[in-house]
Amino acid sequence: MYDYVVVGSGFFGAVFAQQARENGKSVIVLEKRDHIGGNCYSYNYEDTEINIHAYGTHIFHTNNKPLWDYINRFTEFNRYQHRVLTTHKDQVYSMPINLGTVNSFYGVNLKPKEVEDFLASKRGDISNPSNLEEKAISLIGKDLYEAFIKGYTMKQWGCDPTKLPASIITRLPVRNSYHDSYFNDIYQGIPLEGYTPIFTRMLEGIPVELGIDFFEDQSYWRDQCREKVVYTGPIDRYFDYQFGSLNWRSVRFEMDHVPLEDYQGTSVMNYADAEIPYTRIHEPKHLHLEKTHKPSETVIIREYSQVDNDAPYYPVNFEEDKTMLKQYQDLQLQEKNMIFGGRLAQYKYYDMHQVIASALTAAKQELGVS
Ligand code: FAD
Ligand code: UDP
Repeated sequence: MYDYVVVGSGFFGAVFAQQARENGKSVIVLEKRDHIGGNCYSYNYEDTEINIHAYGTHIFHTNNKPLWDYINRFTEFNRYQHRVLTTHKDQVYSMPINLGTVNSFYGVNLKPKEVEDFLASKRGDISNPSNLEEKAISLIGKDLYEAFIKGYTMKQWGCDPTKLPASIITRLPVRNSYHDSYFNDIYQGIPLEGYTPIFTRMLEGIPVELGIDFFEDQSYWRDQCREKVVYTGPIDRYFDYQFGSLNWRSVRFEMDHVPLEDYQGTSVMNYADAEIPYTRIHEPKHLHLEKTHKPSETVIIREYSQVDNDAPYYPVNFEEDKTMLKQYQDLQLQEKNMIFGGRLAQYKYYDMHQVIASALTAAKQELGVS
C-alpha cells in the first residue's frame, strides 16, 4: 500500500511525488511510456553528445524565484537565451515580431517611437478582438499577420485562426525595440545534462512502474492507495469520453543525422508559409553552446503538426471544448480521493514552470506543509 499513487511521470507527477516523499509519505509512480519525464524527456542521440528533446525543444523559463530555486535543486542550467527565427518566402526574419522584423519586412528604418503609429496605420479597426486572427491583426496589422502568423497557425492548429482563442497569440510579445529574446522571463536556460536527470533525481527512492497504463487495472491501483490517486493524463480519457473527445493537437517529428557541423545556424527555425508542410526545424546542438560537439555531425528534427488522440500534446480550446470541459470539470468535483493536475488533466496550455508551480501548490495543500 502507498499513501499516493501518481499516474504519469511528467513534471506534475514527478514534483508531486517528490514533495510527498520529502514529507514522509509513501508514493508510487505509474507511467505508461517506457521512460520517465513526460513530454520533457530527453536523451543523447546514438553515440553522440547531442541531447535530443524527444517531444520538441524545451526551454525552461520563469520569473518565479522560489520556483527557479526549487528546480535548481535537481539540475544546473546553462545560460542559453532562446531566440527564434522564421522563414517567410525564403527570407529569414526575427520572431517574436520586433523592430527588426518590422524594418526588414517593410524595408524601412523606423525608430522605436515610430513603430506604434506605423503599426496603427496597418491595423484597421478591431476594437474587440474575439479570436486569434482578430487579436493578431489588432496587435501587428494584416500584412505581418498574413506573413508570419496565419500560415504557421493554420499548420499548427489545423484550422482557420478565426476559430482559435485570442489567448494563443498573446503568448508571444510584440516589441518596439530590437530586443529579440523569445521570452521576457528573467530566469532561463537548458539543463546542462538535458531534462531526464531532473526526473531521475526527483524520483530518487520512489518506485516507478514503466509501461503501466493506470486504466488497465484501475481497481488494483486504487486498492494500493491509502490517500489519493494523482492523475495527470487526459481528462476526457479519465471519464471514458462520456461527453465526447476534447480537441487536442499532436506533433510528429522526423529526425535526420546530417554530416555537417552546423545545418541552420540556430536552435529553432520556424517556417511561416502554409506551403512548407512542417512548422519548424530544431537543431538541438545550438541549445548547448557550453559543450564541445563533434564538428562533423549534427541532428535536425522537422516538426509536423497533426491530430493523434493517443498522443495529445496541446489543448486546442475551441468554443465547443469549453462547454465539454466544464462538463468534465463538474464530474471531477464529485471524484473523491483524486487530484487532477498538469497540462492534460487540466486541459491548459501550460508551460513547464506553470505545471511545476501548480504541482507545488497542490502538494502543499494536500500535505499541509507551508
Ligand atoms: P506530461 O509531460 O504530458 O506528462 C504526463 C504523463 O502522464 C506522460 O508521461 C504520460 O505518458 C503519462 N500518462 C498519461 N496517461 C497515463 C495513464 N493512463 N497511465 C500511466 N501514465 C499515463 N514548456 C516550456 O516551459 N518551454 C518550452 O519550450 C516548451 N516547449 C514545448 C514544445 C512542445 C512541442 C510541447 C508539446 C510542449 C512544450 N512545453 C514547453 C510544455 C511542456 O511540455 C509541458 O508544460 C509539460 O511537459 C507538462 O507536464 P505534465 O506533467 O502536465 O504532462
Ligand atoms: N505563432 C505563429 N508564428 C510563429 C510562432 C508562433 O503564428 O512563428 C503562433 C502560433 O499560433 C503558435 C502560437 O503563436 O501556436 C504560440 O507560439 P509558441 O511558440 O508559444 O508555441 P509552442 O512553442 O507552445 O508550440
